[in-house]
Amino acid sequence: MSLLEIAGLETFYGASQALFSVELDVAEGEVVALMGRNGMGKTTTIRSILALNPARSGTIHFAGRETQAMRPHRIARLGIGLVPEGRRCFPNLTVAENLSAAARPGRWSLAEINGLFPRLAERRDQMARTLSGGEQQMLAIGRALMTNPRLLILDEATEGLAPVIRHDIWTVIRTLKAEGQSILIVDKTLAELLPSTDRCFVLEKGTTVWTGRPADLTPELQDRYLGV
Ligand code: ATP
Repeated sequence: MSLLEIAGLETFYGASQALFSVELDVAEGEVVALMGRNGMGKTTTIRSILALNPARSGTIHFAGRETQAMRPHRIARLGIGLVPEGRRCFPNLTVAENLSAAARPGRWSLAEINGLFPRLAERRDQMARTLSGGEQQMLAIGRALMTNPRLLILDEATEGLAPVIRHDIWTVIRTLKAEGQSILIVDKTLAELLPSTDRCFVLEKGTTVWTGRPADLTPELQDRYLGV
């Protein structure tokens, strides 16, 4: 069984249905892109995986457990590290404190994260609120990694950042992929995303409409599913 397996997922905001039939799976060691135009349900799918917006119906299995009825913190503790849209760190803790607060035993420790993000290492004693937006995004990724997740989820992790920071973050994503980290990623930068991805799932109006390898996502398909 895959690390993450979602079948027939339906999710509502009050009376309004956002997800109709999401199918998605991530194998161990795989980088999977969740794609689709704005408002098609990518963030809602991620929030349903963590039960922040619980599924109304369908099933979600993570690490062999059925998780859709579990509480968010229990699901996270099974091994999901989320870097949410709009990054969240503790503004009045230092960089090192932010990282240490998330720590769970495993591959990633404070020293390892400092090696991965030298910019964070240089700023380890600064309050998180004094970091640039891009540095805060790095810190959010570092925090997620410090939990030593089996699955790292990145929701628009490079959006709105300076090119030099985006470049650094993509380098980190490729490093993680090379190490065999399982990743579910939402990102609009196709030129960076597609070469870093093993498989893609495309959502349209809350439904999975296409699945395949990035090489099979032809310009015609990109235009149909992702074009504006
Ligand atoms: P984006 O790239 O713009 O973030 P997305 O693919 O992540 O888009 P979602 O944010 O998951 O899309 O939105 C899916 C649908 O759910 C949209 O129709 C959106 O309007 C609706 N929606 C999202 N958040 C809420 C909310 N808090 N209350 C009501 N409807 C919502």
